[in-house]
Amino acid sequence: MSEPIITQCPICRKQVALGDRHFPFCSDRCREVDLGNWAMERYTIPGDPIDINDLDLE
Ligand SMILES: [Zn+2]
Repeated sequence: MSEPIITQCPICRKQVALGDRHFPFCSDRCREVDLGNWAMERYTIPGDPIDINDLDLE
């Protein structure tokens, strides 16, 4: 029993076999979409301002 390990592309849910050259994505396009998502999140989520009252300094 040696079934190929199949996972899903995190972008389009297409099945991708372990060892695929684009793994874990199905294609360069989806890889780029994923990178774009990360860049977008980093851009839209500002760093949390530190509120001194949130620090537990007893
Ligand atoms: Zn894909």
